[in-house]
Amino acid sequence: MLNLVLFGPPGAGKGTQAIQLAQTFNLAHISTGDLLRQEIAADTELGRITAELIDKGELMPDDIVISMIEAKLKKSIATAGFIFDGFPRTVNQAHALDKLLMKHHSKVSVMLCLVVEKEELINRLLKRGLTSGRCDDMETKTIEHRIDIYNEKTAPLINYYESQGKYYPIHGRGTVEEITEQLKDTILKIRQHPG
Ligand code: ADP
Repeated sequence: MLNLVLFGPPGAGKGTQAIQLAQTFNLAHISTGDLLRQEIAADTELGRITAELIDKGELMPDDIVISMIEAKLKKSIATAGFIFDGFPRTVNQAHALDKLLMKHHSKVSVMLCLVVEKEELINRLLKRGLTSGRCDDMETKTIEHRIDIYNEKTAPLINYYESQGKYYPIHGRGTVEEITEQLKDTILKIRQHPG
């Protein structure tokens, strides 16, 4: 199985690139952000709690996102692999993902990290906010808070995957297509020389 973790701060382009990579490598795309927004749209009890936290730029509790991933993995096990977009976001989540994949006799193959400067992230997210309708993309204050949380809780995962030789940084500058090509090249190289 090929299991990719697509990593990077909010606005780095994970969602856009994940769609391309899922198609190219025939992977099931799992985005926790999308799954959470589906709960909001369905107006469930969980959806209402989710909306409050997401709009403030906070992370959802680990146990909730981990159960979502567990359910999703169970449903789509007959696949060539997964691309995880927006997950894991904490060290706890990374440990949980390892355990879940182990149950399916698999593991994370590689963590691809999109690197983008803070100023560029803020510009991109404010622009997205004009059309996406996402409250968390509308105010600079909320966006900065999300970036702070990324630096505090999510960025430590770089060490986690680097120590396992799975960390590959990709500069998120350039066109969407150029970045897709860089990501594809990296994945192909890793597949040719695994471990
Ligand atoms: P972005 O990468 O632009 O922040 P996402 O769609 O990945 O957008 O996530 C939107 C929001 O959903 C996050 O700010 C957070 O509140 C919540 N979220 C998504 N994934 C997770 C996760 N793995 N753990 C906790 N919260 C999450």
